[in-house]
Amino acid sequence: MTRFLILMYHMVSNPEADSEIKYACSPEQFNTHMLKLKQHGFNPVSLEQIEQYLLHNKALPDNAVAITLDDGFADNYTHAFPILSEHQIPATIFLATSCIDSNNRWMNQRGFPTRKMLTWQQILEMNASNISFGAHTVNHVKLPEIDASMANNEILSSKKVIEDKLGQPCKHFAYPYGLFNSKNRDSVEVAGFTLACSTRSGFNNANRDPYVLHRIEVYGNDPWWKLKQKMTFGINDASLFFPAKYYMNRFINRLTP
Ligand SMILES: [Zn+2]
Repeated sequence: MTRFLILMYHMVSNPEADSEIKYACSPEQFNTHMLKLKQHGFNPVSLEQIEQYLLHNKALPDNAVAITLDDGFADNYTHAFPILSEHQIPATIFLATSCIDSNNRWMNQRGFPTRKMLTWQQILEMNASNISFGAHTVNHVKLPEIDASMANNEILSSKKVIEDKLGQPCKHFAYPYGLFNSKNRDSVEVAGFTLACSTRSGFNNANRDPYVLHRIEVYGNDPWWKLKQKMTFGINDASLFFPAKYYMNRFINRLTP
């Protein structure tokens, strides 16, 4: 069965504080990731191609990997967009719609540096190219922690705002903080989304619930070898010793009756 990966990035810029190191991938590092993943036989695909595979059984290339960027930081336009275009790699940006043309207030309220978010003009320009846009609620909320009607509204309104501005269906969703319960999952389906990304790690295949797709979280300071290891084993936490342990366990398991 074809398996595929979805990578999750956030900011593509140099970190401005230690708290951002996990979320901010420098443009140089991002460029290296995009260059190397193609060189090492991974095949970048769009979420649309994954949708076509999951829902309509259309073929997906081997080693397929989709690039996603959460939240809609302005640096996705200034830094990620030119790199993705140069390498002809499609990507999906998940937008928290009330933050568009504004800043990352759900983060700076928690002590993170203030960052500019994308403008609608930048979104429209990228949408005409290799970038697609999904919804990430209106206010970047923790869906399971608010009441069901509010959660529903966060899911539906973010979809509608994007559709009104872009003049096309907004079909893909990502749960803020990766948090959702079964009601939230069902609301996303009822709202008309065709698939949703979680932050659970691991590979996906045709048996995966399309509303709980797994993603590999790329940390801002992951060198290529770490990202490659994450992609090879479908894990978030890579270390120099992981492959040795992995193959040793497989070896031991084979010897154990
Ligand atoms: Zn987010």
